[in-house]
Amino acid sequence: MDNAALIDRLRAAVDANFAAQTNFLAAIVRHPSLRGHEAPLQDQLALEMAARGWQVDRFSLADVDLAGHPKASPMVDVDPAGSIQLVGTLEPPAPSGRSLILQGHIDVVPEGPAAMWTHPPYAAHIADGWLHGRGAHDMKSGVSAMFFALDALASAGLRPAGRIHIQTVTEEESTGNGALATLLRGYRADAALIPEPTGGTITRAHTGTLWFRLRVAGVPVHVAVAQTGGDAIMSAYQLIQASYSHTAAANRAAAAHPWYAGVDAPIKFNPGIIRGGDWASSTPAWCEVDCRIGLLPGQELATVQAAVEPAVAAAARADGFMANNPPELTWHGFLADGYVLEPGTEAEAVLARAHEAAFGEAMGARITTAVNDTRFYGLYFGIPGLCYGPRGEGAHAFDERTDLNHLKTTTLAIALFIADWCGVEEA
Ligand SMILES: [Zn+2]
Repeated sequence: MDNAALIDRLRAAVDANFAAQTNFLAAIVRHPSLRGHEAPLQDQLALEMAARGWQVDRFSLADVDLAGHPKASPMVDVDPAGSIQLVGTLEPPAPSGRSLILQGHIDVVPEGPAAMWTHPPYAAHIADGWLHGRGAHDMKSGVSAMFFALDALASAGLRPAGRIHIQTVTEEESTGNGALATLLRGYRADAALIPEPTGGTITRAHTGTLWFRLRVAGVPVHVAVAQTGGDAIMSAYQLIQASYSHTAAANRAAAAHPWYAGVDAPIKFNPGIIRGGDWASSTPAWCEVDCRIGLLPGQELATVQAAVEPAVAAAARADGFMANNPPELTWHGFLADGYVLEPGTEAEAVLARAHEAAFGEAMGARITTAVNDTRFYGLYFGIPGLCYGPRGEGAHAFDERTDLNHLKTTTLAIALFIADWCGVEEA
């Protein structure tokens, strides 16, 4: 097929379907698919898949042997049996082209105080070409692009010549166990594309992430005799300061990294949640802090863990109370490696051609200081993991939003990528 004719055909189909795509995106943004509460949205997406004639496999994290895989992360706060994964399969009668996984996560992070949003976080408000809402950008826009890239092919009367698994997963924001579960369920392909919101760039490298929980004890007494008690909140504060110092030292060592040398302080530490104490007039008897720290591609998780633990322990030993009442440190979520998509894969070359045809300019590359799910495909299963998707703003922030015009062109780019990677035949 003539390439210019194919581009025209698919562009017309993406344009014709875009009102429906915008409605689809708004509908999925209206689901507050927070961790542990993703099942209603997965059920809706299962209906969307079935309506398109795809085979649907709905399963939970309890249905695969996560514990048997060395790269599963601990899940301490949610029930794996309630964490639903979805795989739709579209298979031609006689596959002749390359196969593909399209994967997007549908879990979103908490929206914070709704009063701080210009529009309510789950209203999917549209104005001036932007669709607003928690998850609109990270990454429900990309999920809509996966569905509507395939719809564009169908509307244009074309059928992919290779098998496609279209997957919506959970746990991307906390462990990555959703993506891993699809692989443990047996799904494989010649490439995987995850349309995270990268603004039309390919993700050359992402950092890894570790979560740890600090639990500190105190001694509750009436604040009138506070000097006889122990203050768990102020003890936790010392451990947070020690973790920042540890991170600063780790970043000095990162200056020699082949991909991250040019990134200022690529290892990020964040004390993200704090809980503690029981009464304003009692010294706090306990405090818990949920923390996140990054690591660079090529660093071993165990090595990083073996550096964080003594840094926390040293700070505790230096404190009169904590020396005798040592804090607990548990790894309670992400144990995620960093990943580099080495330049030169055929999959990336095909994607770059598709991007250029859709946008009329070359595809750039980015280095990110956050994690994504491509590591599972690229590092452990030998499947090139492409992270590329639409443009937006405000991931994990107030007033998160996606640029609808960019999303439309990205959907075309993904449709062209599918057509080139898998091949197409007249339906
Ligand atoms: Zn994301």
